[in-house]
Amino acid sequence: MAEQYEIIDHIHDVIVVGAGGAGLRATLGMGAAGLKTACITKVFPTRSHTVAAQGGIGAALGNMQEDNWHWHMYDTVKGSDWLGDQDAIEYMCKEAIPAVYELESFGVPFSRTEDGKIYQRPFGGHMRDYGKAPVERACAAADRTGHAILHTLYQQCLKHEAEFFVEYFALDMIMDDDGACRGVIAWNLADGTLHRFIADMTVMATGGYGRSYFSCTSAHTCTGDGNAMVARAGLPLQDMEFVQFHPTGIYGSGCLITEGARGEGGYLTNSEGDAFMERYAPTAKDLASRDVVSRSMTVEIREGRGVGAQNDYIHLHLEHLGADVLHQRLPGITETARIFSGVDATKEPIPVLPTVHYNMGGIPTNYHGEVIRPTVENPDAIVPGLMAIGECASVSVHGANRLGTNSLLDIVVFGRAAALRAAEVVDSGAGARPIKGGDRGQMGIDRLERLRTADGSLGTSEIRLNMQRVMQNNAAVFRTSEVLAEGCEQVKEIAGTLKDIKVTDHSLIWNSDLAEALELENLMACSLTTIISGEARHESRGAHAHEDYPDRDDENWMKHSLAHMDKDMNITLSYRPVHTYTLSDEIDYIEPAARVY
Ligand SMILES: Cc1cc2nc3c(=O)[nH]c(=O)nc-3n(C[C@H](O)[C@H](O)[C@H](O)COP(=O)(O)OP(=O)(O)OC[C@H]3O[C@@H](n4cnc5c(N)ncnc54)[C@H](O)[C@@H]3O)c2cc1C
Repeated sequence: MAEQYEIIDHIHDVIVVGAGGAGLRATLGMGAAGLKTACITKVFPTRSHTVAAQGGIGAALGNMQEDNWHWHMYDTVKGSDWLGDQDAIEYMCKEAIPAVYELESFGVPFSRTEDGKIYQRPFGGHMRDYGKAPVERACAAADRTGHAILHTLYQQCLKHEAEFFVEYFALDMIMDDDGACRGVIAWNLADGTLHRFIADMTVMATGGYGRSYFSCTSAHTCTGDGNAMVARAGLPLQDMEFVQFHPTGIYGSGCLITEGARGEGGYLTNSEGDAFMERYAPTAKDLASRDVVSRSMTVEIREGRGVGAQNDYIHLHLEHLGADVLHQRLPGITETARIFSGVDATKEPIPVLPTVHYNMGGIPTNYHGEVIRPTVENPDAIVPGLMAIGECASVSVHGANRLGTNSLLDIVVFGRAAALRAAEVVDSGAGARPIKGGDRGQMGIDRLERLRTADGSLGTSEIRLNMQRVMQNNAAVFRTSEVLAEGCEQVKEIAGTLKDIKVTDHSLIWNSDLAEALELENLMACSLTTIISGEARHESRGAHAHEDYPDRDDENWMKHSLAHMDKDMNITLSYRPVHTYTLSDEIDYIEPAARVY
């Protein structure tokens, strides 16, 4: 180990890595349960990507019209294209209602109806009476719902004893000889010190990896760090081939225009002015599930009916809603449209394109947030001392395709569930027990040192761009065997060039060059597992639209894929069964059916 590293040890009951909505909801609950809790985050908590969530959080409150959680569950199972685990989906949809009222009592400033109830708007795939017609289920704080939730959760956290370690970059997990997780090793970006956080329970809440792609709606911090730490520890990543494209990213910049815009009555047209969604989804139209709308848009563009000089985008119309509605319900996106496409949305349509938005796959867990590592005897065996929640996890409530508003829901419901579980299984003070063997974080330190002194010929941004281009072209809305196979070879080759990376700044203090190199290695692990899992899945399901296998194949493929990575970044695959049972007898297992909107 190099001389200049000063290592500081910390002992806690629980460590939460990440301070987005998921991490903060868990931190809050763990602190309140009296556990000595640390929350480590590479950006200031209220800068986490959750802050950018716009449209709403789903819960069958029934404030606008009749609704119930059985319908919400049905929609979520159908949205997942039957890859979701129904025990977890039941838990989430039922808990949604108290979870939203809890947020209200914490102080989230929801928009209101005339009679003072929480305002709800329609969203894609959310229907009444088992798919009959759209329902208003998305609880919204204008178009800044994530901002409202994240700030409120952070304020609540400050009431409890939780200790925050802000601008600390977690490098790798600390595993013991029994295969249990005992914490993480982290780099303090401000002063270059290293910190060994040791605990009885470690919770990954590090968010998604949108930045594996060239065009995405996610923040630059969404680099799949938790997924990669888990993969490097020899644990599998689940369903990584399922990447959601949001139908309405602004053409050129990728900035998101919330689906709530279509919820408020917005609609899409092609170059002929045709509102084409009526042809693809006669009932739900522009409010069909995201994968369905993104594919329909891509077909329109491919068949020459895209808008613009290159016929390569689609129009989103909001102008008919009137300036008052836009000002009251969608103020943020009106501003976004003006800044990022120079369009006055009250007068003219916004140019949009399907853009990478969400990762359904991630670290496999049960509905308590406990991480799963299947064994021959037990497909649901858990890894001691390790949990994962939020976008980095795959519970799996979203299966092959997530419905809008179900992620903000996922982060608060499973953030809370993880806290409840930790309160049950963690003994206060147990974090202090000795660590049995393992490398005590040495792998993370070696990685930091290797990259800090990396003196190759390729800059981080160059390698990253090569990777992002291939992912954008070869793991896109539509996929074929040929394109995926080519993509696998190319990403493997690009991953090989990491050996030749050059980091120009060798300091350990505020070194963004080094941080980005670490993030690139993490993104590469996510890209490899995504494209290799995709190439292997010979069917079409949810967001994975395989043109050589256009149908869903429940007999052979109703199973979760598990991608394992070795130390040379070689990937092997295995599978585990989908949970085909519910949690209680309040609702029956929903049998697979054709997915039409
Ligand atoms: C533009 C946009 C709009 C959206 N709108 C909606 C919506 O309206 N409704 C909805 O349901 N969903 C929406 N989503 C999805 C949803 O917002 C996200 O899936 C969710 O907020 C993710 O929360 P999270 O807590 O898992 O992760 P994040 O909020 O991404 O937080 C990740 C945290 O991990 C920390 N971290 C990461 N790596 C490290 C590391 N190595 N060391 C230390 N800390 C680390 C970061 O600092 C951060 O605090 C939207 C997403 C986007 C991008």
